[in-house]
Amino acid sequence: MPQVTKRDYYEILGVSRNATEQELKSAYRQMALKYHPDRNPNNPEAEEKFKEAAEAYSVLSDPQKRAAYDQYGHAGVSGAASTGFDPSVFADFTDIFGDFFGFGDLFGSTARRRTRPQRGEDLRYDLELSFEDAVRGMSAEIQVPRQEVCHRCLGKGAEPGDIATCRTCHGRGETVYQQGFLSIRRTCPQCGGTGSVIRKACPQCRGQGHVLTQDRLKVNIPAGVDNGTRLRLSGKGQAGINGGPPGDLYVFIRVQDHPIFERREKDLHCTIPINVAQAVLGAEIEVPTLDGTQPLKIPEGTQNGATFRLKNQGVPDVNGRGRGDLFVHVEVKIPTKLTREQRKLFERLRETLPEDNKPAERGLFEKVKDYFM
Ligand SMILES: [Zn+2]
Ligand SMILES: [Zn+2]
Repeated sequence: MPQVTKRDYYEILGVSRNATEQELKSAYRQMALKYHPDRNPNNPEAEEKFKEAAEAYSVLSDPQKRAAYDQYGHAGVSGAASTGFDPSVFADFTDIFGDFFGFGDLFGSTARRRTRPQRGEDLRYDLELSFEDAVRGMSAEIQVPRQEVCHRCLGKGAEPGDIATCRTCHGRGETVYQQGFLSIRRTCPQCGGTGSVIRKACPQCRGQGHVLTQDRLKVNIPAGVDNGTRLRLSGKGQAGINGGPPGDLYVFIRVQDHPIFERREKDLHCTIPINVAQAVLGAEIEVPTLDGTQPLKIPEGTQNGATFRLKNQGVPDVNGRGRGDLFVHVEVKIPTKLTREQRKLFERLRETLPEDNKPAERGLFEKVKDYFM
């Protein structure tokens, strides 16, 4: 292999030769975050820097290799460095980054298996409700496709009874290096810390540990839900990994429009037409409410656009704090087709009513403005 001049590992990480383990870690973390391929797509230079930093860290974070490097330089660790990374340091990657990056994907075949318990993903389900169902509440049955822990292997991915003890760590899940009087423990690279290896994959889940199921779930929709209400069903998301807890299922509510009522928060609004005589003389009319029709007294001389408020006839509060109101907006209909008799009556009315066609008074604000202009 032609020997390319390699940069000094300490120089790569930008630390001094007597940097502590913590300093190395934080220097490496910064480099890796900066040059991570996910953050620098199609940037071979960044990728090169990223790999370089990972290699430097893989050597310097191992006291044995660091000692060899300090003494002999690159030649002292060429065995480990030429193959890329020492799998035994992958345990440290999760220490450094947590779950922020999918390191398993990044390092391909040398990646360690994820063994830390991971919470399953949350799921979203969109549920459309009729106006009435949203207002009254209901119990809905929904069918949700989700990953569930495989019942055959209980999530282990191996044919039951076919899990063998890992030979590298003898089932302990970690390997111990002796460095002088220090022992350094590392997650076993062979089994990824589980202490066991799988010889035959579970046929039910093909070694995945989880299976896709169509879960039928009952959802209690409380009265008063509205567009955008989210209901959380704890633990009904995707199955966890390596024994981690499942995620949650979020049911997003969408409410259909109502032909008569318009909803604004907890209040309802509707528009009721009345005729001229009813507006002038007053009337008792029937108005729709959520619980059937109800009489409403229209007083004498009701103007077009007048609003009547029916207390507690709105939508129940979703948290059980009372109910909104119903607002009935009156629209006075002017007749456009009159019978001969009606026309005569209106003509007689015209003779008795005063002509009052002055422009409407302007608001106080306008008058004040004019005064100061
Ligand atoms: Zn299985
Ligand atoms: Zn092992």
